[in-house]
Amino acid sequence: MSFFKTARPYIIAGPCSAETREQVMAVAAELAGMNVQLMRAGVWKPRTRPGAFEGNGQPALEWLQEVRQTYNLPVTTEVADTNHLELALKYGIDVIWIGARTVVNPFQVQRLADALRGTNIPVMVKNPVSPDVDLWQGAIERFEKAGITSVAAIHRGFSGYTAAAGYRNQPNWPIPIELKRRKPELTMIGDPSHISGKRARVAEVAQKALDMHFDGLMIETHPDPEAAWSDAAQQVTPAQLRTILSQLIVREETTRDMSGQEQLEYLRQSMDSLDAEILDLVARRMELSGQIGNVKKSCNMTVFQPSRWSEIVDGLCARSNMHGLSKDFVTGLYEKIHNESIRIQLSVMEDAPKEIKK
Ligand code: PEP
Ligand code: MN
Repeated sequence: MSFFKTARPYIIAGPCSAETREQVMAVAAELAGMNVQLMRAGVWKPRTRPGAFEGNGQPALEWLQEVRQTYNLPVTTEVADTNHLELALKYGIDVIWIGARTVVNPFQVQRLADALRGTNIPVMVKNPVSPDVDLWQGAIERFEKAGITSVAAIHRGFSGYTAAAGYRNQPNWPIPIELKRRKPELTMIGDPSHISGKRARVAEVAQKALDMHFDGLMIETHPDPEAAWSDAAQQVTPAQLRTILSQLIVREETTRDMSGQEQLEYLRQSMDSLDAEILDLVARRMELSGQIGNVKKSCNMTVFQPSRWSEIVDGLCARSNMHGLSKDFVTGLYEKIHNESIRIQLSVMEDAPKEIKK
């Protein structure tokens, strides 16, 4: 069984950075009395710009070792190169995590995976800063191929030029969902601290992660968040963590409630038949596209006509309003349909002329 499946949700908490021995021991003392499975603390900190606090390095590993010995609480830290890894192993760190900026580099990830071969230490792989599901999956597979049997993914959100909807890192929920579809057995841990970037929103993002079927959470916790040496705005106090954990609603994938099951069954059958109808309609629409392509070809007209596409989009926006559907959703959906229609018409242009059906 995966190391991370021992609790549901599996909770990881602790400061962004291990700042001082006192800070580390103070937070550990609080976490040891809570339902927390693993304590986190950054020892080497990847900072965006030079001059910021970059971690205490080796001395901080001694503090984490002391946490293990004093409280019997397993500990984890981020490693970014093989020197970090060698030291982390020497100090008996229980779980290794790979940061978002390291995961973007397959050479570096492979070096770390090679160095871990034979250890079977659990590894957590944060999503890369870029919204690239293949790169994330690839990094996870490098550790699996190196013989690590407990690998977890951490969803910490993605960089964008502007922060979406007040988040620090855009959640892009379809990406972890797609990764889980590809690897159903993978443990998925949410990092609401780095997604939200502010402590007031940590609880809300944590709940969303659980509702998205995540297995655990990593929540940055500091005895005095405002005075933190890194990520001060997003860390919560141990007392706030206790409240957040006590208010989380853990939902199940299935239910034993017979009437709930029956209602779901009925609604899903209705949905399945609508999906079949939608697909039949889309197929008919694509057939029309082919016929339109033939007309355009014989009349020497371009495949794409911007004015016609604007007209379609305007019409769709008016309709989406009528149905209470979001314009972004409807136009996004139709962009896909329209692109396929263009592809069909382009292939008609390249073909020998066809007879136009009446
Ligand atoms: C962190 O967890 O403190 C951290 C640096 O994370 P990330 O790699 O997600 O930025
Ligand atoms: Mn942090």
